[in-house]
Amino acid sequence: MLLIRNAEIHAPAPLGRADLLVAGGRIVRLEPGIDLPARYVERLDASGLLAVPGFIDAHVHLTGGGGEGGYATRTPELVLSDAVRGGVTTVVGCLGTDGVTRSPAALLAKVRALDAEGITAFMWTGHYAVPVQTLTGSIERDLLLIDKVIGVGEVAISDHRSTQPTFEELARLAAQARRGGLLSGKAGVVNFHLGDGTRGLAPLRRLVEETELPPSQFLPTHINRNPTLFEEGTAWARGGGFVDFTTSTVPAFLEDGEVACSAGLRRMLDAGVPPGHITFTSDGQGSLPAFDEHGRLTRLEVGRVTSLFAAVREAVQAEGVPLDTALAVVTANPARILKLAGKGQLAPGADADVVLLDAADLAIRGVIARGRWLMRDGEVLVRGTFE
Ligand code: ZN
Repeated sequence: MLLIRNAEIHAPAPLGRADLLVAGGRIVRLEPGIDLPARYVERLDASGLLAVPGFIDAHVHLTGGGGEGGYATRTPELVLSDAVRGGVTTVVGCLGTDGVTRSPAALLAKVRALDAEGITAFMWTGHYAVPVQTLTGSIERDLLLIDKVIGVGEVAISDHRSTQPTFEELARLAAQARRGGLLSGKAGVVNFHLGDGTRGLAPLRRLVEETELPPSQFLPTHINRNPTLFEEGTAWARGGGFVDFTTSTVPAFLEDGEVACSAGLRRMLDAGVPPGHITFTSDGQGSLPAFDEHGRLTRLEVGRVTSLFAAVREAVQAEGVPLDTALAVVTANPARILKLAGKGQLAPGADADVVLLDAADLAIRGVIARGRWLMRDGEVLVRGTFE
């Protein structure tokens, strides 16, 4: 058992100063003044620290991604310590452009490996391409038969790297995701990769207008990649949809018009988007390719999981977004939208995924996943098998 005392609790809602008792990998009590003899429990005085839920990063290329510049540009796998450094205790893995040398089976193996190493991992089935490449032959079977599959993605639309799926193909795959989700009690959400194409969110608007599928079935990502898509995303979210920002970036993208996540969050809130409809993900280990006006690759970088909380912190410190609202985009919101039980909140009964932040500068000082210390006093204690 672990007793964290005198922490300022942001669950993510602010609950004031309280103590957190962890046992068996879960939070069992959360209230002021818990006292247990030291011989029964490890105690930590967390004065000067904030206790917040472990972060959820729902779009990470766990087995690497990319390769848009040829084989030598295939990006590397996630290592555990990167997640720990970023305070990420739950990841949802995905495949991207490459569904030939990257496979759902390899992704599932990596998901299980990260679980064994100490965090919680899930996956999206499929990759950019339609028809969707699955583990068991269909989206519904993947959702119903494989515990780790929570939805479909990232399916590429409005992008030169997509398979140019037709409306009927998108409707069919979204329907399969919905049916599989309903039958398995999972979210069954489709994570759509949005490119820079001028069609933008038009395919999703048409799905909602012409089928019975609700907007909550879709989570379009990279919504901040250009100003036009950002405006479309704002309207989509005001109309009841969810939007996901990508936090990994390079200065050249921002110079080209990408909307910084911190400022973008502030702008969407000011525009009246319900705070619960916004999530951030890192696109970690994904390739960040830049193409010139002729479609030629000009540069390529690798996304980082550590960018996730850096963007949240910047939203608080530079844009004045309330801490609980900013925290929710990487905790309570993805947990609710993706139906990740026990995740994204500090409450009795929830998994003991806790991040300790320095109250003064919001630096990550401690990370606990399922009750186990992964980082303490700013030092990474647990690394991946081959690190
Ligand atoms: Zn993508």
